[in-house]
Amino acid sequence: LRKIEGKISLRIPKNYPTVKFLNYKNRKRILVTGGAGFVGSHLVDRLMLEGHEVIAADNFLTGRKRNVEHWVGHENFELVHHDIVRPLYLEVDEIYHLASPASPPHYMLNPVKTLKTNTIGTINMLGLAKRVGARVLIASTSEVYGDPTEHPQSETYWGHVNPIGPRACYDEGKRVAETLSYAYMHQEGVEVRVARIFNTFGPRMHMNDGRVVSNFILQALQNDSITIYGNGNQTRSFQYVSDLVDGLVSLMSSNYSQPINIGNPVEHTIKEFAIMIKNLVGGVSKIVELAAVEDDPQRRKPNIDRAKKYLNWQPKVSLNNGLKITINYFSKELKKTKHSQKD
Ligand code: NAD
Ligand code: UDP
Ligand code: UDP
Repeated sequence: LRKIEGKISLRIPKNYPTVKFLNYKNRKRILVTGGAGFVGSHLVDRLMLEGHEVIAADNFLTGRKRNVEHWVGHENFELVHHDIVRPLYLEVDEIYHLASPASPPHYMLNPVKTLKTNTIGTINMLGLAKRVGARVLIASTSEVYGDPTEHPQSETYWGHVNPIGPRACYDEGKRVAETLSYAYMHQEGVEVRVARIFNTFGPRMHMNDGRVVSNFILQALQNDSITIYGNGNQTRSFQYVSDLVDGLVSLMSSNYSQPINIGNPVEHTIKEFAIMIKNLVGGVSKIVELAAVEDDPQRRKPNIDRAKKYLNWQPKVSLNNGLKITINYFSKELKKTKHSQKD
């Protein structure tokens, strides 16, 4: 009991980060679905610090309360345990709709739920936006381009997606989410914003996320083999999470309603990426090649001319700096895990 009391007393009183004071006219009520996830929690931080009232709705499928616990109890913040596949009745000015598993192993675990979340969940958010006159931003993805035949990918490219492959639940789910957004815009006058997000990384990615950045960093930190799927010649372009949050907030406040790529155009092969992480972490990990995964997109790099033109946005954080921060985060997480195993 003393141990528990000690832990509780550590958390009271709460030292909230300083939030800007916004008068009633400028303060918005903002719903972030998936607000306890990796990207959602960073967005919640930004909106809270700007002085808005924020409601994070999450079913904790892949997110964690820990990601937003520093706001729990703050008068501007509310955490709602809610599955977005069910209707949600709230009064809000803006909705950032991020709820959806995002990592391939996560979304493939339950393809039906992934589809329901991106279709029915998106209908619910568009229905809510329609009822209360809120603007809604949909977190779409570079996966709408599938395994692209156009490189780099511009928003005008229609994509190359296998509709029945292992990634289809996510790719097609997001494509329908976009279709729904524009149907609600044209038919019901809902104000929509569509962000096509490219690979993003940073602190608060789940240890078991399964995406390449967290996998490689954790493997390197533990001197395990760094696992490349296939020959490693496939490419990705990685953006740091604070750049994405800047892009999402700019898009929400812009007048631009067509889809817009938000990503860092600096492209690397997965093999180069493995070497880069191994060098940054140090250690004695071997880099090994495993079997390729089905329908793995071979090249991915955003054309960000639209974001530059309409949002005056471009990424600021270099891959190297972003990786250093993220490696530091995972190194601390590993120590915490070891410590709690000892407890
Ligand atoms: P994440 O898995 O960390 O976060 C997703 C959050 O949504 C989690 O907190 C999860 O619990 C919640 N969620 C899932 N299904 C839900 C449901 N039915 N009801 C309520 N909450 C639900 O993933 P992330 O990387 O933070 O991704 C956030 C959004 O950005 C997703 O929509 C994803 O598709 C999109 N996106 C992310 C990336 C990336 O690289 N991180 C790239 C492209 C698109
Ligand atoms: N909805 C919601 N919150 C609201 C309003 C609507 O979750 O505040 C959901 C509701 O489940 C509905 C869906 O959004 O089925 C779509 O709403 P719309 O008004 O387009 O459809 P309708 O209610 O006419 O079926
Ligand atoms: N990848 C890899 N090893 C891993 C995890 C992923 O080689 O441990 C590869 C994967 O095959 C893909 C790229 O890294 O080519 C990015 O995968 P991720 O799951 O991070 O995201 P995706 O862009 O495919 O959605």
